[in-house]
Amino acid sequence: MIKTQVVVIGSGPGGYTAAFRAADLGKQVTLIERYDALGGVCLNVGCIPSKALLHTAQIINEAAEASHLGVSFNTPNVDIDSVRGNKQNIVTKLTSGIKALAKARKVNVITGYAKFISNNQIAVDGSDEIIEFEHCIIAAGSRVNKAPAFPFDDPRVMDSTDALEMQNIPKRLLVIGGGIIGLEMATVYDALGSEITVVELSDQLIASADKDIVNPLFRRIKKQYANIFLNTKVSSMTAQDNGIKVGFEGKNAPEFDTFDKVLVAVGRTPNGKLIDGEKAGIEINDWGFIPVDKQMKTNVQNIYAIGDIVGQPMLAHKAVHEAKVAAEVICGHKSGFDALTIPSVAYTDPEIAWTGKTEKQLKAEGTDYEKGVFPWAASGRSLSIGRSEGVSKALFDKKTHRILGMGICGTNAGELIAEPTLAIEMGCDMSDIALTIHAHPTLSETTAFAVEMAEGTITDLLPPKKR
Ligand code: NAD
Repeated sequence: MIKTQVVVIGSGPGGYTAAFRAADLGKQVTLIERYDALGGVCLNVGCIPSKALLHTAQIINEAAEASHLGVSFNTPNVDIDSVRGNKQNIVTKLTSGIKALAKARKVNVITGYAKFISNNQIAVDGSDEIIEFEHCIIAAGSRVNKAPAFPFDDPRVMDSTDALEMQNIPKRLLVIGGGIIGLEMATVYDALGSEITVVELSDQLIASADKDIVNPLFRRIKKQYANIFLNTKVSSMTAQDNGIKVGFEGKNAPEFDTFDKVLVAVGRTPNGKLIDGEKAGIEINDWGFIPVDKQMKTNVQNIYAIGDIVGQPMLAHKAVHEAKVAAEVICGHKSGFDALTIPSVAYTDPEIAWTGKTEKQLKAEGTDYEKGVFPWAASGRSLSIGRSEGVSKALFDKKTHRILGMGICGTNAGELIAEPTLAIEMGCDMSDIALTIHAHPTLSETTAFAVEMAEGTITDLLPPKKR
């Protein structure tokens, strides 16, 4: 029996942050992780390895397009073992860093699968220990959705974890799901030489962003990829000797086609039903999410939950923020989760990022808004890096001129989204942003220009007529 003040289940960005914050605030903490490596999906088989591979893709793409600048490179020689090795080195550096930070904080790390026995005890499979706790923070995350009809036992049918392993570069790759994971992995495999087909059930790629913000990406990859089928369903999938035969139902798709590999990226499911939470009396909804209040408390007063397991969006930076709240509340602080917005980023090429309300949300809510849209073709900085397809859209309350949301598509959109996110949290209005001097020439100017388009003060373009 191990007695601990705080036990944390899961060592992803949410779990390790909660454990470290509680330890820093003086608690004696036990962190349970089923795998040997700490860091969860994000560090091991998600955000970090995918970004390492996307950087490789970016270099290949930039070299291929450099001939426009008067510089030509030979066709690159891709050594897939080294590509995989570089990715793994980055992952190992980060996960061992987390391990060292846990040790430095005297956080007791236990390897094994945690399940509740009661509202103050946890059993750990793979270890004989029973953990008795005063407080618990559940950060057990989510897993990929696997349609039972798809032959996942065939290694040619991959989920995101398999795709990140980069066993080989298939000649023809089908990506099922035009969400963030599907399109990021398509970016990687396209750059490494696969012929890509994307099939998406809805009428838009990255459906939670506004269509006009996704359009520059759509236009670019429509030219690069073999096919993008929207409004299309995969009706069957059969493993054959010559490949995976896939049946489609959709207006523009063929009835059948055969691919060397298939990546299924159709969302993630929370792990709420896999930890025997009912033995502790924890409420878990039909989807497997655990409802929590603003202090990240479940219905059981000494048990908290954070990250993917408590709801959408399933993003590491949301989990980290929630983790600090839970740890601080346990330590007697008056913390609460009251962020006005959680930014989203798709690290595609070009990147897509959005924060606050989207235009479609504002329309659905009936909010009286106005917008400024700045095409990056009028940005000197954008033109000088040879990528002018971007667009920035700023959304404002029509009466108060307060910023409500922002969407950006273009190089480094994921970095640029920090400014409008801060602006939303600070309650900025148009003039706060437009009168902030942005360095010239930078891509960050495009944010100010989008605001000036709404204000009618733009000089780098003709101001749009006031509606
Ligand atoms: P998603 O929900 O973002 O996208 C899945 C897509 O698949 C949707 O567009 C959906 O319409 C489509 N779809 C569902 N069933 C289908 C079918 N049978 N045939 C064709 N299309 C189908 O999910 P994801 O891309 O798998 O990502 C999962 C989670 O991980 C998300 O919450 C995402 O935010 C998160 N994530 C974030 C990042 C990032 O922040 N950059 C990166 C990767 C993943």
